[in-house]
Amino acid sequence: MDLGDLGQKLGLDKSILSAGDHVVRSPIDGSEIARLKVDSPADVARKIERAHAAFIAWQSVPAPRRGELIRLFGEELRAHKDALGRLVTIEAGKILQEGLGEVQEAIDIADFALGLSRQLYGLTIASERPGHRMMETWHPLGAVGVITAFNFPVAVWAWNFSLAIACGDSVVWKPSEKTPLTALACGALWQRAVKRFGEAPEGLLEVVLGGRDVGERLVDDPKLRLISATGSTAMGKTVAPRVAARLGRTLLELGGNNAMIVAPSADLKLAERAILFAAVGTAGQRCTSLRRLIVHADVAPALLERLKSAYASIAIGDPLDAGTLVGPLIDGRAFEAMQAMLARAKTDRGVVSGGERVLANRYPNAFYVRPAIAEMPAPTDAMRTETFAPLLYAVTYRDFADAICIHNDVPQGLASAIFTNDVREAETFVSATGSDCGIANVNIGPSGAEIGGAFGGEKETGGGRESGSDSWRAYMRRATNTINYSRELPLAQGIKFGTD
Ligand code: NAD
Repeated sequence: MDLGDLGQKLGLDKSILSAGDHVVRSPIDGSEIARLKVDSPADVARKIERAHAAFIAWQSVPAPRRGELIRLFGEELRAHKDALGRLVTIEAGKILQEGLGEVQEAIDIADFALGLSRQLYGLTIASERPGHRMMETWHPLGAVGVITAFNFPVAVWAWNFSLAIACGDSVVWKPSEKTPLTALACGALWQRAVKRFGEAPEGLLEVVLGGRDVGERLVDDPKLRLISATGSTAMGKTVAPRVAARLGRTLLELGGNNAMIVAPSADLKLAERAILFAAVGTAGQRCTSLRRLIVHADVAPALLERLKSAYASIAIGDPLDAGTLVGPLIDGRAFEAMQAMLARAKTDRGVVSGGERVLANRYPNAFYVRPAIAEMPAPTDAMRTETFAPLLYAVTYRDFADAICIHNDVPQGLASAIFTNDVREAETFVSATGSDCGIANVNIGPSGAEIGGAFGGEKETGGGRESGSDSWRAYMRRATNTINYSRELPLAQGIKFGTD
């Protein structure tokens, strides 16, 4: 796989691409695309220090002015959407349409953050004391550590970064060791925006490269007031207590195990299209990918028949080719994990279609699979874990209350959906007694969220919220202010303390 002129277009100096011994491979054919230098402990410490110093200066810049820098960054992203989207495809293996979609998401959140920079509103609160006023103000928090996963190498960082910069913070970003080039390219585009802006402190974005050990340096550094970490639940379970031990803040976006209920009244054509995008899109490597289908027994045979025939003919191949819908898995480990779960589904009396490796002759060092459906006689333990590959379990139900129970009976709580034309079922699903996930949709699949809403999930998904709505508050500190403009000093709760 050749990067061609992508590096140059994105401002990546050629010398960077062969500066060290961390091998970066493209999942498209398994070939080496770069050898990068990872950051030593001293490098990481220096970068955190620089980000902290940048924060000290940046917090005093008026928020709308900070928004102006984000606006310029959005322009850079727009101008380089094609090149950056291609790099995402080469490095993460998602199809080009989705690579471009990720960059669009970064553009959208930059627009959002620009608007937000004039809307970091606080409250005024009625005081119980005469001649007093209470208010709530929001202030920049500090340097923020952002740790990201391989499967959304631009968008997840951008959700955090644009908001944090608008909020007056600086960011130290540790991208996945599988997608560091995309991060370096984002950093280079950011530097172009900084240059045009002219008056931003150095160090508002520091990219640190390396694996888990580098991530752990961020996690343990008290200068990073917030650690926003996206990745597996296993990662979150080690990060959360370490940050808690220093009483830092975390924002966790962890694994999902997303389900869809298909009711007897559902528009099956619509459901089929939604299932296909959600279950096989990004080769099943989205945190919001559809992993469990809970179908009413009356419509299950027809729906599964349609799905199996769509799965059998879906275009699998080079994600840079326009007709491809399913690209490669990220690596051999992901392939092995999927195969192990398929074997387990068979042991659990499931009937599996698909799941086999394809294109092995053409790409002996890459891992393409036909997406799989495992029809299970009943929910199993294995269905309660996230397999990060295109493996869709299907079970049937008769009673709607049972469907909700099956739906919620997993440790994760990210995204969910129901297809129904019954208003009672639809409303129940999004009510307190319905889906227990952070995202609950009706007649639309669980994946492919817009940036305007708060994104995140419950239970082992970690509880964090990023992107739209009021997620910005995670990147700021709140102060409650009481101002006395009277000539008295009354105490709250009417307390008398000594004599006047
Ligand atoms: P991963 O957990 O292997 O790695 C994620 C990041 O964490 C990487 O940068 C890695 O180097 C770092 N890391 C790992 N252990 C660490 C530790 N102990 N301390 C500090 N950093 C550590 O995940 P992955 O394979 O890259 O991504 C797939 C997973 O991410 C899936 O579980 C998926 O559901 C999840 N994900 C969740 C969301 C969400 O928003 N909820 C979004 C994307 C991906």
